[in-house]
Amino acid sequence: RESVKTFLRRNAFVIFTVAAVALGVLLGFALRPHNLTAREVKYFSFPGELLMRMLQMLVLPLIVSSLVTGISSLDSKASGKMGIRAIVYYMVTTFIAVFIGIVLVIIIRPGKGSRDSPMASSGSIEPVQAADAFMDLIRNMFPPNLVEACFKQYKTLYKKTVLTKNITITVNATEMMNSTDLQTSNFSTVVQTLQETVEELVPVSGSSNGVNALGLVVFSMCFGLVIGNMKQQGQALRDFFDCLNEAIMRLVAIIIWYAPVGILFLIAGKIVEMKDLAQVGGQLGMYTVSVIVGLLIHGLFVLPLLFFVVTRKNPFTFIGGLLQALITALGTSSSSATLPITFRCLEENNHVDKRVTRFVLPVGATINMDGTALYEAVAAIFIAQVNDMDLNFGQILTISITATAASIGAAGIPQAGLVTMVIVLTSVGLPTEDITLIIAVDWFLDRLRTTTNVLGDSFGAGIVEHLSRLELQNQDVEISKSVIED
Ligand code: ASP
Repeated sequence: RESVKTFLRRNAFVIFTVAAVALGVLLGFALRPHNLTAREVKYFSFPGELLMRMLQMLVLPLIVSSLVTGISSLDSKASGKMGIRAIVYYMVTTFIAVFIGIVLVIIIRPGKGSRDSPMASSGSIEPVQAADAFMDLIRNMFPPNLVEACFKQYKTLYKKTVLTKNITITVNATEMMNSTDLQTSNFSTVVQTLQETVEELVPVSGSSNGVNALGLVVFSMCFGLVIGNMKQQGQALRDFFDCLNEAIMRLVAIIIWYAPVGILFLIAGKIVEMKDLAQVGGQLGMYTVSVIVGLLIHGLFVLPLLFFVVTRKNPFTFIGGLLQALITALGTSSSSATLPITFRCLEENNHVDKRVTRFVLPVGATINMDGTALYEAVAAIFIAQVNDMDLNFGQILTISITATAASIGAAGIPQAGLVTMVIVLTSVGLPTEDITLIIAVDWFLDRLRTTTNVLGDSFGAGIVEHLSRLELQNQDVEISKSVIED
């Protein structure tokens, strides 16, 4: 029989983390009446900011080392099969998420009735064309400079031509909207400024800030594949990346002790500075409810069911093992920053094979975002409803496809989905400035969709492991054979 002491020791991390959330919420609400200034809130949230920075610091070496070791330790046939399974899982679950979102937003109709807050709708601007954004997605897969890919991501820039003054200025529209610490107020100003001044937008390619995770993922996969096939000659590199990965995971094991403290302050800080949520009623309230219900159905019903059907294992025990990663996602709003913790939870608590997590998790955190896809579809249709625009079947189909693309293109950073929304809106001719309608609640929905994203990636790892058990066993046999031969 397990004594209380062993139970506490075994679940210490989870207990601390849950306690941190509760304490953070309490502290946040206790401090709210004191009306702290923006500066004071910044000081107060500092321990949270530190956690965010520590996790982000590990993401880059973690993505590269885990993918290279993961893939080079598999033979190319096994990794090919595993890759296909992962991609099929990502596509299927993302489409299901979009479908749930669309059905809900059509049934609930959060945008019906006249607009809550009349907006000056003086014609729509089109800062991003779907085709340009799609090309950026492909461009990002092939970074011309690997070092640059560690801190730059390709984005279509827009050349703004102010004809009257006869001068040409280049504005990086997407870059302004893509800053990591995107402030809601900044965002609306950007949209408004563009609306007022832009006369002609000409797409040109360039790069903007942000890690190009997609490029690094593609490179690391190819690199892993190549050194995996190099037999004895590639051994030094394989050992190097294996060792690097091990070292990073040891750092994660240290940081994890600090995580509850960081999460406490991240959550408390956000509660202190948030606008009064009680005022969010009417259309925006119903929109928020639609997204939340959709995320809950997807995360607590569809994904667990799929996991159970495929693996016959208890999905809720699996979720239990992930608790710390899910709470970190809730606290940081970033699936990239959560990645180190997701690794640990899956490997240590849920005992998913390392060869699988190393391969599928970095890819999943970069391209598989069920929560984001669901939210994009709901938001686009909500904006159509608010504008009294009836969408036909073709347009709804376009929204599902672009919402999927927008979720793939969104980086795993806070509120990235809000930025890629522009793609979905322009694809069906909806006014992009109406993004301002949903900004007030976005910080909140961002946390929830990020948690769903992390959950989707994790279930994906569990499902791919189960489907690939044969290849993994074969590989184990090969390894033990070669050990005996040696
Ligand atoms: N914050 C989300 C994530 O990191 C992306 C989004 O904004 O939807 O997964």
